[in-house]
Amino acid sequence: MKTKIIYLLIVLFTFSYQANASKKWGATGHRVVGAIADNHLKPKTKRKLKKLLKRKTLAFVSTYGDEIKSDKRYNEFYTWHYVNFPLDSDYGSSEKNPKGDIISGIEYCKNIIKDKNSSDDDKAFYLKLLIHLVGDLHQPMHIGKAEDRGGNDIKLQWFYEDTNLHRVWDTEMIEEFGMGYQELASNADVLTKQQIKEIQKGTTLDWVNEVRELTKEVYGSYEEGENLRYRYNYRHFNTLRSQLQIGGIRLAKVLNDLF
Ligand SMILES: [Zn+2]
Repeated sequence: MKTKIIYLLIVLFTFSYQANASKKWGATGHRVVGAIADNHLKPKTKRKLKKLLKRKTLAFVSTYGDEIKSDKRYNEFYTWHYVNFPLDSDYGSSEKNPKGDIISGIEYCKNIIKDKNSSDDDKAFYLKLLIHLVGDLHQPMHIGKAEDRGGNDIKLQWFYEDTNLHRVWDTEMIEEFGMGYQELASNADVLTKQQIKEIQKGTTLDWVNEVRELTKEVYGSYEEGENLRYRYNYRHFNTLRSQLQIGGIRLAKVLNDLF
């Protein structure tokens, strides 16, 4: 009897642990950005990417930046996934993280890729990182406030389970919708050439400022400790979908410019 109970506990523990672990990475979101970017690449860019990425797709490599977080050798890149500053201030006048942030990180990646003296291995590494970071940049909670670590410390519930605001936007909403990355990418909104051109305008900093307006909306989108459910997804999922599409279209622009 006793062993049965212990066995049951182990099974339960393992399952709940796995359920939590699977929620940790917003893999689907990154893959949607990669798959959408694919549709906006110039033939020449495609050829060069194929060679550098050894025929792996943008969707496949888009999660690399998160995967290497499990390897201490890559700790120096940890702060590159985000930038946090006060809501009433702007990036230019805010205090910079000496370890780097998403804006300086993107710049660094671009410079390595452009440099004729960089090895192909280095180019491939920073290319994979760049593909990831342009995705992160369009997730409004990656440009959050420092005091709540981009919404990670804002405790909420998602269908009665504990979560936080950052995770709601990284993962929960996408998982709740239930489509895979290919389906989400192929169901992206139809845009005109002019609309795509408009989206691709501007610098990395312009894009940060634009997403920042959304960040402010997200900070006003919940009540303290709220149990978010269907209505939250109904209200905000289109915004999230649009961010994934904009991220993909801009990633293509960044890559077309580089190659
Ligand atoms: Zn990331």
